[in-house]
Amino acid sequence: MTTQQKPDFDAIAVGAGFAGLALIHHLREAGQTIRVFDKASDVGGTWTWNRYPGAMTDSESYYYCLTFSKELLQEWSWTRRFPDWKETHDYMRFVADKCDMWRDIQLNTEIVSADYQTDTGLWLVKTGDGEAYTCKYFISGMGMISEPVIPKISGMDTFKGPLFHSSRWPREGLDYAGKRVGIIGAGATTVQMLPVMAQDAASVTVFHRTPNFIMPAMQKPMTPEWEKEIKENYDEIVARCRNHSFGMDFNTAGRTMAETPQEDVQKIFEENWKGSFRWVFETFDDLLSNPEANKAARQFIIDKMRERISDPEVADILVPDIDDYALFAKRPPLDHGYLEAYDRDNVHLVDIKDREPIVEITETGLRTTENHYEFDIIVLATGFRAYTGALEAFPIRGASGQSLREKWQDTSNCIMGVCAADFPNLFMITGPQAPFANLPTSIEQNAIWIADCIKKMESEGYDVFKPRKDAEDEWSAHVTDVHQQTLLNDGDKVHSWMMGANIEGHKPRVLIYFGGANVYYDKLRESVDAGFPELEFQKLAG
Ligand code: NAP
Repeated sequence: MTTQQKPDFDAIAVGAGFAGLALIHHLREAGQTIRVFDKASDVGGTWTWNRYPGAMTDSESYYYCLTFSKELLQEWSWTRRFPDWKETHDYMRFVADKCDMWRDIQLNTEIVSADYQTDTGLWLVKTGDGEAYTCKYFISGMGMISEPVIPKISGMDTFKGPLFHSSRWPREGLDYAGKRVGIIGAGATTVQMLPVMAQDAASVTVFHRTPNFIMPAMQKPMTPEWEKEIKENYDEIVARCRNHSFGMDFNTAGRTMAETPQEDVQKIFEENWKGSFRWVFETFDDLLSNPEANKAARQFIIDKMRERISDPEVADILVPDIDDYALFAKRPPLDHGYLEAYDRDNVHLVDIKDREPIVEITETGLRTTENHYEFDIIVLATGFRAYTGALEAFPIRGASGQSLREKWQDTSNCIMGVCAADFPNLFMITGPQAPFANLPTSIEQNAIWIADCIKKMESEGYDVFKPRKDAEDEWSAHVTDVHQQTLLNDGDKVHSWMMGANIEGHKPRVLIYFGGANVYYDKLRESVDAGFPELEFQKLAG
């Protein structure tokens, strides 16, 4: 017998990006009512916020999408290998239209707190406009790279022109033609933004700290033949993504560098240099675990980067030294003409690590130890509080009253990135200690696990599930153990967001499961088949 009150919604989810859309589909199928809230004015998540010039996916279009409907896969046509933010955003609106999802989405509404009520087993969710709603299941679909890092630079509030984070690009657009633009940061965002902005801006100056291993994207149009081939083989493509360690439509190399004759290594590297992250996964299977293989890969990328940069001084700043850090300890950016952009007279590079650190932002620009640079616009392309940032941005308080932010002071322990001890009836999509992979693939696998868990709860009459602390300890220990077997610990010394090492005053930690996305998806499935042993199910006393 249960005394649980009827909530306003069975489920409330936050975030109308891929996660919110996938949840609407899978929870409707599970017979649940759901309301998806988003503070943005449109669906799209990342692709509604990141409207900077050049913003585009680093996954290839035809598998950077939701796969729950064969009809959707057949009806949508991508125009190129890597779609820009607008095309991806249009696609997401198309999904919302086709699947009649708008009625379950409430935009322009920020969630400001979510509290688990131990007496009722429901979540109380409050919004910025003063409303409060109850739900049985509270679900985060807020994205793993969505909460910006704003650097602490003195004088930021004195600058007279627009100054904003790259992921908060003005929705009405920004006229930067003929203007002097300063960009702080040189990660994946700047690598995409610079070549496009430089075409129209009077000048673009990049303030650069840590060099990246930059790989070419090699954009190309979607031809009718390619589209036909994709659409005739979607079942296989979806299965390949599901079974790949990075959730992408890649093949495994089927060989290691350790077993490959030295004389063949360069040939294999060269033959596979065809753009995207394929190269990392389709050359050798031990690039991320064998130090020698990783070093050879780094040298290959370094040589390729240097070939494309004309000015040796620029190359010295942009190109990592071979022993700086392991490839993938910092997420490599994909490049659409970034390196060549430095050949333009209106593009400038400032080394703020070794030569002239930033001192302050002034009314008219930015001062380093050596110079004052005059700007009309300053863009902070300074990255994100990955995995935990959005979950910590407003209080989400569990059974003991502790918030996720408080829980995650020193570690970011979690169960498979989907739930956390002390937080009953809370689900997360791609929370901490989930893999870093093609996001739509991971999101769908998480949404399926969540829907299956809810089906069990409802069909067996449970009111509450409690994630088990011992299961959390076990998963976190496993994630740490796997991490130690990779070469990615270097992330700590190069401020990698993959370890939360990019946040000032934040203790670096193991944030990502590196055992392979496919292995992780298998573990989710095993959990469903075994009846969710990580959770304790309860009925409230009547
Ligand atoms: P990022 O890779 O974390 O780069 C941030 C940049 O800002 C780095 O160059 C960093 O320098 C610099 N920085 C941070 N704080 C600074 C400070 N106080 N002073 C000076 N410089 C500072 O961030 P991002 O470029 O936005 O990319 C983040 C992630 O978002 C990517 O790795 C990717 O996963 C995702 N993303 C994806 C796409 C896509 O798939 N299409 C596009 C863009 C971004 P250090 O390196 O020295 O810390």
